[in-house]
Formats: sequence, structure tokens, C-alpha cells
Amino acid sequence: MKFHVMTLFPEMIENGLGTSILGKAAQKGVISYEAVNIRDYTLDKHGKVDDYPYGGGAGMLIQAQPVYDAYQAITGDLTQKPRTIYLTPQGRQFDQKMATELAKEKELVFVCGHYEGIDERVLEEIVTDYVSIGDYVLTGGELPVMVMIDAIARLIPGVLHNDVSAETETFHNDLLEYPQYSRPEVWNGKKVPEVLLSGNTKKVNEWRLEQSIQKTKERRPDLYAKYQQKQEIIKRLAKKKRQNIHMMELLHRGLGEVVYDKGMDILLKFENLYMIHAVDVLSAGKMFMQIPKDAMIITTQAFVRDMLENVYDKTGFCKCTQALCTRKEALPMKYKDIRVLDGSYFDYVMEHYNLANPENIKERLNASAMYGAFDGDRIIGFVGVHNEGSMGMLFVEEDYRHKGVGASLESYLINLQISNGFTPYCHIIEGNEESLALQEKLGLYLSDTPLWWVWK
Ligand code: SAM
Repeated sequence: MKFHVMTLFPEMIENGLGTSILGKAAQKGVISYEAVNIRDYTLDKHGKVDDYPYGGGAGMLIQAQPVYDAYQAITGDLTQKPRTIYLTPQGRQFDQKMATELAKEKELVFVCGHYEGIDERVLEEIVTDYVSIGDYVLTGGELPVMVMIDAIARLIPGVLHNDVSAETETFHNDLLEYPQYSRPEVWNGKKVPEVLLSGNTKKVNEWRLEQSIQKTKERRPDLYAKYQQKQEIIKRLAKKKRQNIHMMELLHRGLGEVVYDKGMDILLKFENLYMIHAVDVLSAGKMFMQIPKDAMIITTQAFVRDMLENVYDKTGFCKCTQALCTRKEALPMKYKDIRVLDGSYFDYVMEHYNLANPENIKERLNASAMYGAFDGDRIIGFVGVHNEGSMGMLFVEEDYRHKGVGASLESYLINLQISNGFTPYCHIIEGNEESLALQEKLGLYLSDTPLWWVWK
């Protein structure tokens, strides 16, 4: 990822981003940034970049010309115009969700204002997003841009030194983090909570969740209300768990957004994917109106599928079986040499899993959501988690089949998900009898209601 920052104070950006974790990430080449001095592009012989606003009023305004020329110098050689963000108190408020979305870009351009801001005409020409970091007014965009770059960069693989995937991180949405303690065991007469010294991971996780819930309830009632709504929906959906496990897990993992919620008429959104559970034709119709035309949709309701077929020009239907694991103890693994895969396995995965597009594979590898089976140093197969949380992408080399490698890869993933407090599940495309047999052998329960994936 490359960050370009257009500013009147490049030294502020260089000093701010050049130290600590971001500085090290830039040295390693995991991220890079450049601070472009808008003043270098002025045509004014005295180096002036600002002037009085037409119509009067307090303060000065940065003129259009130097901003536009600086922007051209950054983007002139790029084939695709990058997202260009103007930091302004008038923008959409920056949050973790926006950081996650922006972390997927290859290049980002930031424009820092100063004085009273920037001539509107150049903003109209170059800006794609207007972003604020909060409801207060600062003297310039430099501090906000550093806040944004810090939040975005730490989501880029390799910037932080942990390989815990976004998929397996528990409750990263809607709840605040639990309290944490380090040495000594007793400080100022205060002892570290007993459970953290017990070595019992399950008990530690339960305690942390409880603490997170309490803390969120006290400090952020707005977030807690969201969390509670999702918990209530999960309870409702649990009445038909085998049918609804995809929706339940999406919410449980803190990944989904509730778009519609009335009784059993529920619509969830996750990136470009919509999950719909409707029992009422009228409300189902109302819910459809909220789904963009190019979205992918998953449903287990036959009449929703029929409506989609009739109302929309949705042509790609894929019928699947939903399989979920309800065991809570670890599954045995015959084949033990399984490791997380990184980007260097991209070609190998692409070669054997060519159903998916390259971006999809890259994203899975970057999120540490793919695991490989090895024979010594040689990779012989893999398995992965799709971004909405379902398991799949299983492949084992011909020579190694019928030796328990595939079952071990799936068991590994199932065990990992159970240890993170999830219910592992997958969707199996109709006709894939081998996969169905494998899931049944592993003890996964198959839903008797088909699952329809619908896309354009
Ligand atoms: N006259 C502008 C207005 O009322 O919207 C405020 C200008 S402010 C004094 C100068 C610059 O600081 C802005 O152009 C913007 O780049 C930056 N800035 C100030 N507060 C900000 C905030 N909360 N979030 C993002 N950028 C901010």
C-alpha cells in the first residue's frame, strides 16, 4: 500500500509517520508513503498558495492551481485514479469499518487543508471521499491524516507482528476489548484476576467476553445496543440452526450489519453479500428493495428464491447444502503437519483452485485464512475460510489422496474455529458427493433445506 499525502507541512507527516511501528513497516517495504508539498507546485513567484475568499469572510483559502498540479504529479502515471480523500470536519466520520475498507486499496491520496480550507472547484475535480475524524475543528488536515494512516496501516498484513487472522479474531466488532494485565502479579496492593493465572483458555475466554460485555454496556451504550440486537437475532435464528447457521455465525463473528429486523424477517449485509431470511412475502419484497442490483444473495427460503427469479434479472443460481459442526470437542487428525499459508503460496493455490478470482485468493492468504498440509517442505494440499466465515477451498494432490490428508485439513480448521468460540460450517455445491461424504464422516450435520446462492 502506498500513501500519498498532499500538505503544506511535509515535515509534520514525515516526522509523525517515520517513527515506531509505521516507520519500521516503511523500512521493511510493507507500506510506503510520500509527503508532497503543495507549495512546490505553485506558479506564484513568491511561493504563495493562499488567497482571500470571494465574497469576503474570515481567513485565507488554499488556491486550486497548486493543489491540482500536485495531484497531477502524483497520479499522472497511474492507469487507475486512486481514491482521493479530503480531510474535512464536514466529511463522513472515520471509523474502523472505513479503515478496513480503505486497507484493501493499493494507493491512497490524502489532501490536507489549512487556513479556511481549499477552493471548492479543485475539490470537485479530484476528491472521491470527504472524511472527518470527529466533530471538532483542527488547524489542518495533518493530524487527521496521521490518525487515518495509522488505523489503516495496522490492518495491512506484515505491519503488526501477529498472524492472527481477521477471521479468527473473536468479537472484533460491537464490543470493547476486555481489561488486560502484565507483571507483577500484585501492584499497589491490586492483584491480577485469578482466572488469568489459571491456564484454562476456555475459562479465560469466558471471563474476557463477560468483561467486554460489561465494559461496553457501561462506556458505550450505543455499541452495546447493537451487540444486544445481534444477540437477539441469533436467538431467533437458532430455532432453525441447521438452516440459518450462516446468518448466525456472521453476526456472532461481528461481521454482519443488520439492514432489516422484524420477527423472522431478517436481512443482513456483509460487503457485497446479502443474507435474507423471510417468512412473509410482503416484507420479503420490502427487504429486496434494500438490496443493490449487483449484490450476491444467500437464502434458504424457497419463495425468496422464486421471487428473486421473477423480480430480478438474477441468473446465476447455485444450490448448496449447508453443513455445520455441533461438536464442541476437538476432532482427531491423522495428518499433523499443517501450517498457515502466506502470499508466497499464491501461485500454488491459484493453480489448484481456479474457480475463484485472484483477488479473492490474495485476500484469503493475506488474512491468514488458508492452511496448508506439508510433506517435509513440500506443500501437498490446502483448505481455507471464505471471508464470510464458511469453510471450503479444500484441495489435496492426487498422490496423497485417500490418506486422511483432506479430513485432517478440515478437522484442523474445525478445531481452530471451535477454539475461537465459533460453530464451524460450510456450503457444499450440489453434486459434490465426495465433499458431502467427507463432512458427514467428520460429524458435520447436513441441513435438509437447500441453500441458494444467487448472483448476477
Ligand atoms: N472552514 C472549514 C470548515 O468550516 O469546514 C474548516 C477549516 S479547518 C480550520 C482547516 C483544515 O483542517 C481543513 O481544511 C481540514 O483539512 C482540517 N481539519 C480540521 N478539522 C478536521 C477534522 N475534524 N477532521 C478532518 N480534517 C479536519
